[in-house]
Amino acid sequence: MARYTDASCRLCRREGQKLFLKGERCYSTKCALEKRNYAPGQHGQSRKKMSEYGLQLREKQKAKRFYGLLETQFRNLFDKAAKRKGMTGENLLIMLESRLDNVVFRMGFASSRKEARQLVNHGHFTVNGRKVDIPSFEVKAGDVIKVKEKSTSSPKFKEIKEMTISVPSWITVDVDKLEGKVVALPKREDIDTPIEEHLIVELYSK
Ligand code: SF4
Repeated sequence: MARYTDASCRLCRREGQKLFLKGERCYSTKCALEKRNYAPGQHGQSRKKMSEYGLQLREKQKAKRFYGLLETQFRNLFDKAAKRKGMTGENLLIMLESRLDNVVFRMGFASSRKEARQLVNHGHFTVNGRKVDIPSFEVKAGDVIKVKEKSTSSPKFKEIKEMTISVPSWITVDVDKLEGKVVALPKREDIDTPIEEHLIVELYSK
């Protein structure tokens, strides 16, 4: 499957914001944005006033990068969100949050969405008792996500059992059982990802 191969930190520097793509490192002084808080490249330090289109484009790029989607995947998700009832921008954010890789990350079972995607890809999780290895799998309210029995002995998951995990209000986690439940799909106000979704809607509505 295609994915970003660019250095993750460059993406944060491009957006001028932490996208939390590298797990622990993002919370430490080693974070590239702590040292070089300007865009990469020759003209990275020159400040230009951004056009309306530029702002919309950057917001879309930021959202894609936060959740680790490529353009086609993101556009397809947007089109699906537009077909659903309600506000397209909110639908889009809720659908991004409902991806299995994001939920695994939100459950605290991975240090970044990138790691969560790898863990899901490697078949370490079940949803309602069935193995699911598709990171884009859309979870529903009531779904139970659990580490597969065979994987529970891996050092990664043994470590999680020792951790104190804080999760958003729409998810519950039982670390001893290595499982989490989607109590309800998140509402807009439950989503703390700093994205102004109306800019994305405006961009794609042109
Ligand atoms: Fe972004 Fe994390 Fe790199 Fe900091 S360490 S620039 S938050 S990916």
